[in-house]
Amino acid sequence: MIGTVTLNPAVDRRYNIDKFEIGSVKRTKNYSASAGGKGLNVSRVVRMLGEEVGAFGFLGGSTGDYILNELEKLEVKSYFTKIQGTTRTCLNIIDEIGDNIEILEKGPIIEEEEVNSLLSKFKKAITKFDIITISGSIPLGVKDNIYGELIHIANKNNIKTILDTSKGAFIENLKASPYIVKPNKEEVESITGISMCSEENIITAAEKILELGAKNVAISLGAEGMYFIGVEGRFKVNIPKIELVNAVGSGDSSVAGFAVGFSQGLDIEGVLKLANACGISNAMEKNTGFIDPVVVKDLTEKIEISSL
Ligand code: ADP
Repeated sequence: MIGTVTLNPAVDRRYNIDKFEIGSVKRTKNYSASAGGKGLNVSRVVRMLGEEVGAFGFLGGSTGDYILNELEKLEVKSYFTKIQGTTRTCLNIIDEIGDNIEILEKGPIIEEEEVNSLLSKFKKAITKFDIITISGSIPLGVKDNIYGELIHIANKNNIKTILDTSKGAFIENLKASPYIVKPNKEEVESITGISMCSEENIITAAEKILELGAKNVAISLGAEGMYFIGVEGRFKVNIPKIELVNAVGSGDSSVAGFAVGFSQGLDIEGVLKLANACGISNAMEKNTGFIDPVVVKDLTEKIEISSL
C-alpha cells in the first residue's frame, strides 16, 4: 500500500460567474466542491492507477467530514487524525473570460497533542506501507521539521519517502534524507538561487540539493520534462508535445506515478516514464489531480530517457 501525507488539506470550491461586479449578487448553477490539498491529489491519482492508498493528515469540522466522505468514495483508507479546528476551504471564483480570484484560508491551528497523535499513528502503521509521499504546506501550530520526523520514522523501517513541498518546509526537512524530492523549476530557483536556463545550471542546482541531504532529486520542468539525479542515476526525461488543458496538479500526479512505479518494483527508467506520463496526462485533463490510465499507458511508450 502507498501512504500519503496531507497535513493541510482543504475543500476546494469553484464558482463560475458571468463577470466580476463589486457590490452585486451573483447566482450560479455552475459550481463544484472537491477534496483538495496536494497529498489528496496524489491519493486520487494513485487510486486511478489501481493501487491501494492510506492517507495521513489532520481533519476537523464539517469540511473535514466532507473530505472523509470523498475519500471513502475513492476507497482511500483514512489514517487521518481528528482535530478540534476546522479544515480550511479554498475558494476559486472564475468569470466568463477566465479571470479569477482565489481566496485561501490559512487553516486551523493544530494543537501539540494532535501532532503527537499523528506521529504515533504514523509510527504504528508505517510497516503497512511500501512508500510514503509527503506533500504540501505545514499547518499553523506545527513545527517546520515535522516532515523530517516522518522521514526518520520511514527511513528506520527502510521505507522510501517522496517529499514535495516548498520554501522553509523543503530546506528544513532535506537533512532527514528523503529518498526523492520533486521541486519544480521555480522552487529550485528560489531554493538554490541558480537560474534553470541551461542543462549545466540544472545539474549544478540538483547537486546542491543532494548535498543538503536528499538521496535523489527530480527537477520537473513542465512541458520540458524532467531531470533526475541521485543514487538511482542521472537522467533527462524527454516528453512528447501535447495540447495543454490544465497543468495544475501535474506535479502531484507525477509524485503519484513515482510512488506507484517504485511500489510495483519497476526499474528506474520505468518509474521515470510512469511519473512523467502521469504529469502529462493530468495536463491534458480539465480537473486538477486527474489522469486517464489509458493515456498514461500510451504516453509511457512515447517518453524517452537519456543518461547524463
Ligand atoms: P508542478 O505541478 O509541481 O509545478 P510541473 O509543472 O513541472 O510540476 O509538472 C510535472 C510533470 O508533469 C512534468 O515533469 C511533465 O512531465 C508534466 N507536465 C507538466 N506540464 C506539462 C505540459 N504543459 N506539457 C506536457 N507535460 C507537462
